[in-house]
Amino acid sequence: MFVEFCIQIFLVLTILILYLAWTRLHPKLTKQKFVFLFFFCSLIIILCMSYPVKYHSGIIMDLRIIPWMVSFLYGGFFVGIPTTLIMFIYGFFVDGTSIGYIIFSHIIIIIFMLMIKKKFEESSYLNKLKYTSGVLLLHDVFVIFLLYINHSNMIYHSKLLISMGIIIVPILANWLVIFLIEAIQANEKFRLEMARSEKIHIVGQLAASVAHEVRNPITVVKGFMQLIQHDEEMSGRYHYYLQTMEKELDRATGIINDYLSLAKPQEGCTKIINMTELLQFVCQTLHSYAFINGVKLHCKAKKAYYVKGSIEKMQQLLVNIIKNGIEASPKESVMDLDILEEKKHILIKIRDYGQGMTAEQIEKAGMPFYTTKESGTGLGLMVCYQIVEAYNGKIHIDSELHKGTCFTIKLPAYNG
Ligand code: ADP
Ligand code: MG
Repeated sequence: MFVEFCIQIFLVLTILILYLAWTRLHPKLTKQKFVFLFFFCSLIIILCMSYPVKYHSGIIMDLRIIPWMVSFLYGGFFVGIPTTLIMFIYGFFVDGTSIGYIIFSHIIIIIFMLMIKKKFEESSYLNKLKYTSGVLLLHDVFVIFLLYINHSNMIYHSKLLISMGIIIVPILANWLVIFLIEAIQANEKFRLEMARSEKIHIVGQLAASVAHEVRNPITVVKGFMQLIQHDEEMSGRYHYYLQTMEKELDRATGIINDYLSLAKPQEGCTKIINMTELLQFVCQTLHSYAFINGVKLHCKAKKAYYVKGSIEKMQQLLVNIIKNGIEASPKESVMDLDILEEKKHILIKIRDYGQGMTAEQIEKAGMPFYTTKESGTGLGLMVCYQIVEAYNGKIHIDSELHKGTCFTIKLPAYNG
């Protein structure tokens, strides 16, 4: 029996490792990952059911609940339901008894899993263990009840064995599985972060030296152009030419400023900042830019929330993200800006109802030079990520194509 349990754990772990290694090798696939999660989970379930642990009393047990739970909690409804169907269809051929009761119990567990899914996604490793153990215990209640009805006398004789097989081994195996998935995912995140920081560093160094040298001649040219514009004898046509030249120079200065901000040290002058006031101020400064683009900025935040940091950096952070939102929004639309509180953090929500982003765009956001705009620099978000990281914060992007995007900036709150 011990060997059979080892086989079960081995099956669950090795196939999951295969799946994780496979997704790591193909990071570009996004939707297909879910198809493969379904495939791998179904495979584990079928194998677990094919080589179950058999007790001398005729009771059989396996660890199919673990891949089944993984399919729901990591893949969601659309991965979980097909996996459930496979499990039921195969289960019907292997052992078709008590099918009504099994369907009923699984529906209850599915409802429970869907209820906790959102919280599960956002929780820490330890809480994930608690949630999954909760699902397992709920499952155990149903299994024990079924055993009690069908094999009540055997339960009394093999209490220890059954409690090991139903409760302890699945929970331990589950901890191993969740630990493995979380460790590999955290590792992948860390690797991406490192690659990004490295690139930022190189770009920053390079950009600073070039940008600084270019900005000075531009200032000189602009000064002389303004002088020429004051010449009253010049015809209207030349005025127009000069205005266009000035506009383009301003655009060039904007791009150079983007580059320069990469190289500036992140510390700045640290102060206690009222983020609500700053958000309202940024809304005012961007009002005319939004107006030209036909967008209305709607700042809902009223209550004061404080953070510690440099005003210039925070302002730049908000400006960059709101500007992107305005650029992505259609004419005659609004953008909602708000600040919420979450434990020891504040969440600044910047939501637009514009073009939205694909999963690939979200993944690449913040990479140096990544832009989808004709005249974009692809540096705005990179600077934002840099600023937020310097203050131990995080940026989260929620987006749906053609529906809009919500940027959430999470920063440690200052509470005096
Ligand atoms: P830039 O604005 O110069 O293109 P950013 O770093 O500011 O560079 O943004 C990078 C890319 O991220 C943009 O080109 C765009 O494709 C995408 N992006 C950023 N914000 C949004 C948004 N609110 N909606 C849709 N796409 C966005
Ligand atoms: Mg931008």
